[in-house]
Amino acid sequence: MNDTTRERQAATETPAPSDFVRDIVAADNTSNKHGGRVVTRFPPEPNGYLHIGHAKSICLNFGIARENRGVCHLRFDDTNPTKEEVEYVDSIQADVRWLGFDWGDKKFHASDYFEQLYQYAEQLIQDGKAYVCDLNADEMRAYRGTLTEPGKHSPYRDRAVAENLDLFRRMRAGEFAEGARTLRAKIDMTSPNVNMRDPVMYRILKATHHRTGYTWCIYPMYDYAHCVSDAIEGITHSICTLEFEDHRPLYDWFLDELRTSCHPQQIEFARLNLTYTLMSKRKLLQLVRENHVQGWDDPRMPTIQGLRRRGYTPESIRAFCERIGVSKRNSMVDMAMLEHEIREDLNKRAPRVMAVLQPLKVVIDNYPAGQVEHLDAVNNPEDASMGTRKIPFSRELYIEQEDFREDPPKKFFRLTPGREVRLRYAYIIKCERVVKDERGEVVEVHCTYDPETRSGGSAATRKVKATLHWVSAAQAVPAEARLYESLFTVSDPGAADNFTTVLNPNSLTVMNPCYVEPSLATATSGARYQFERQGYFCVDPDATPGKLVFNRTVTLKDTWAKIEKAQKEND
Ligand code: ATP
Ligand code: MG
Repeated sequence: MNDTTRERQAATETPAPSDFVRDIVAADNTSNKHGGRVVTRFPPEPNGYLHIGHAKSICLNFGIARENRGVCHLRFDDTNPTKEEVEYVDSIQADVRWLGFDWGDKKFHASDYFEQLYQYAEQLIQDGKAYVCDLNADEMRAYRGTLTEPGKHSPYRDRAVAENLDLFRRMRAGEFAEGARTLRAKIDMTSPNVNMRDPVMYRILKATHHRTGYTWCIYPMYDYAHCVSDAIEGITHSICTLEFEDHRPLYDWFLDELRTSCHPQQIEFARLNLTYTLMSKRKLLQLVRENHVQGWDDPRMPTIQGLRRRGYTPESIRAFCERIGVSKRNSMVDMAMLEHEIREDLNKRAPRVMAVLQPLKVVIDNYPAGQVEHLDAVNNPEDASMGTRKIPFSRELYIEQEDFREDPPKKFFRLTPGREVRLRYAYIIKCERVVKDERGEVVEVHCTYDPETRSGGSAATRKVKATLHWVSAAQAVPAEARLYESLFTVSDPGAADNFTTVLNPNSLTVMNPCYVEPSLATATSGARYQFERQGYFCVDPDATPGKLVFNRTVTLKDTWAKIEKAQKEND
């Protein structure tokens, strides 16, 4: 079984979560409202890469379809040709698949329906429910009124059906300039819901579309295109985020007036907001365009591709989406919760290895030069089936600079002159003296080892206060490690006037050279490990056979587990 199949299978086996959306679907199944059918859709606009917020929507829509033996369509909402690109269409498909979901042959585009949408618009004109309006954008805004004042009728509102039809056909034929005319629904300019004040259905855009080319110069607006696309596809539950709640009367109005045979139910849920991140594609695009990050897949980005490159698994993202649940109330989720999920996952399956990020040379003076021992190391104490491996031990080693102090503060229990520590899977060593460079920096620590204290040996029980990770200098493989902090210094960067002023200058630290144990020499892109005491790491796609590059996914310190524990104690 390969990884992808295993991931897909895992997704099928998890017990179904419950929430208010699933309650609605279950009730509809019981009342046979849709004849037992459950058809949902995930409708991204291909104007950027998917982010963790989209993952919430994907898990919900594909999840509900799967749990009810229904289907979930992937529909590209490609009604805005000026912002959409094939690159985004491709990345969206790759990301949905990677998350473990499958749309089968149900991949659609709103642009597939341009002709039908156009015919439906003519039908509304024939029925006296839509008209061509010549107001420009500013005038239209002035006529629309405000939340507290009703709007005014457009002077073009009472055009005859024949004139509207003629003008709309000429709009389609390209006779008018961009912005000169629009097609509007004729609803109610005094409605307390501003969305119902004769909303625009079509605008003139002389732009080429990534699928329909120059065929069209009028494009439908989201509110019109979306509900009609849902109806054409026979969607039963059209699940969207809360900001569309006020658009629901319009969604229903179009379908009622068009008397479509299918009238899906729009259901709104709260979007995901995560601390220390931005979730708007427009802002993420700005981060990319202005080179604040290295691309959409920069490991600091909250995009699916960024998280993937950072080392997140699809399982951890699905588990996170399940844990946050689905509600009607907007809130901010703690980033620590997402990190908790990846730790839970990798703790069980990432092999543990030793790697030194900031090397300090250790020479074991009483260890024979040229001798190499191969010691047994456990791959994952959480899972015995992952077995053991051999790691070389020799006279010259590297340990972490921070594990040695010449003048230790109180409570520093690691290596200092005259003190003993254990080397993981190896011996107890004692620091005898240090060698300094011309600036007075310690460059070598000379130790002696006690041959009687080999790990697993009979005399290995002597107590020392610290166990250090290490690698053998001659066999270690040099590598680069990229350590990350959050991209922003404030927990709600979206609230800042200009989010580029709250970027964290320390969001990326490159450690080079680091040394990793030789078992990692052939590690390939995407492989995930726990570096003992340093966190979870994965091999970056920048790695080449001669150059290992690791991203730190997360450290080992689980702040969410602490928060949870404190919450439990308070309850
Ligand atoms: P953005 O503001 O990032 O551009 P969007 O809503 O415009 O997001 P779409 O491509 O239209 O992006 O989104 C596709 C689907 O994903 C929609 O159904 C939308 O409601 C959902 N979605 C987008 N962002 C979130 C989020 N943060 N949490 C949950 N669902 C989201
Ligand atoms: Mg959108």
